[in-house]
Amino acid sequence: MPEHSLKTWRPGLARDAWPAELAASLDPALESFVDSANRPGTDFPIQNLPFGVGRFGEGESRILIAIGDEVLDLRACVELSLLEALPGPIRCALCADALNDLLRLGRPAWLAVRSAASRLLSKDEPRLRDHPERTRMLRSRGDACLGVPARVGDYTDFYASIHHATNVGSMFRPDNPLMPNWKHLPVGYHGRASSLLASGTAIRRPFGQTMPAHATTPQWGPSKLLDYELEIGFLVGPGNDLGSRIPIGDAIDHLFGVLIVNDWSARDVQGWEYQPLGPFNAKNFATSMSPWVVTFEALAPFLAPGPPREAGAPQLLEYLVRPEDFLPDLELSVAIVPESMRGSDTAESQVSLGRYREMYWTPSQMIAHHTSTGCNLAPGDLIASGTVSGPEESSRGCLLERTWRGRDPITLADGSTRTFLADGDEVVMRGWCERDGFRRIGLGECRGTVLPAE
Ligand code: CA
Repeated sequence: MPEHSLKTWRPGLARDAWPAELAASLDPALESFVDSANRPGTDFPIQNLPFGVGRFGEGESRILIAIGDEVLDLRACVELSLLEALPGPIRCALCADALNDLLRLGRPAWLAVRSAASRLLSKDEPRLRDHPERTRMLRSRGDACLGVPARVGDYTDFYASIHHATNVGSMFRPDNPLMPNWKHLPVGYHGRASSLLASGTAIRRPFGQTMPAHATTPQWGPSKLLDYELEIGFLVGPGNDLGSRIPIGDAIDHLFGVLIVNDWSARDVQGWEYQPLGPFNAKNFATSMSPWVVTFEALAPFLAPGPPREAGAPQLLEYLVRPEDFLPDLELSVAIVPESMRGSDTAESQVSLGRYREMYWTPSQMIAHHTSTGCNLAPGDLIASGTVSGPEESSRGCLLERTWRGRDPITLADGSTRTFLADGDEVVMRGWCERDGFRRIGLGECRGTVLPAE
């Protein structure tokens, strides 16, 4: 397999610096014989080819690639000998029920699978298009029950938006919104992998201990201030051995791709518990993940520099400096569908529209910092960015900020107002990349509905 690395990638990297097979797969003129993949506005044109895991009926989970309104079943492709050009270990990894084995194989393997899928799905390639058992390999996306794409052993949540950190800090600590360490290191905490949920799984409003304003003793009961957090998640590839570090220059090769994460948060629980050790029960009851992982190969045309550091920003320590560092230039939205509007064409109220390029800390910096102690990352670990908030009110990525802790309610499509989430509300998050000269690609959706406490 040819070498393939993103170590030298930077924003605005010219097309001719990409490997030839990657450039071919990103050609905006490339079309698929799957007609729905050629439709303008689809999240999943042939230039995207995101990976997920799903099953059909009572069948076993299998690795899938989304293409338009259909999915390519990679295990079926291996079984019907359409991926014979791939080395044995890759074909074996593609027959697993989660992405972990493929993640372990690293960037050259990921590009090899992408390139093979791109060729198989292209308009003029007959091997799959005209195959007598095509419907075994290519099935309706709507028939797939999509799950969490990898067995996530560990989940870490960062706090990488300066707008989010400043807004939240100014509500909880008006005198001291941004802690003195914040601009020196990407702050994070170790999250809970056991409660990671597939998109579409309903979440139960949690109980918790809170200290209401003006109360003198704590109370226990259903959270009254349930919130979402719009985040981007990164799935870890090969990772590192315990005791070793991932240098910042190598970090991006340890990230397979991105998905959408909703870090459900109980703000009243958080406000009472978070000092001195940070989030605990306010965050551990549910975190939703979108089903499709969009690879950094698909994101190649959409790399943006991190936001410029302001005058007077501290000089970073060497281990956090990567020349011409980048992050994916994703646009992200959040909508709420109240229960009364379910099924209606006008059900959704968009409550946030943000851009990932506003984030202060890049994925490479998060990986370099996370492993700087010798902490080991494993294939399938999930690294989340923290709430994606921008400078405008409309780009704030959670209700805590959007309604300023309940001071400024928002009005939904049915005329009702929200300060925090109500039972029955469905939260719908979406992400996509657009740029002149390239096909728009999407991350798909991350959905979750709030069930009443019980
Ligand atoms: Ca979070």
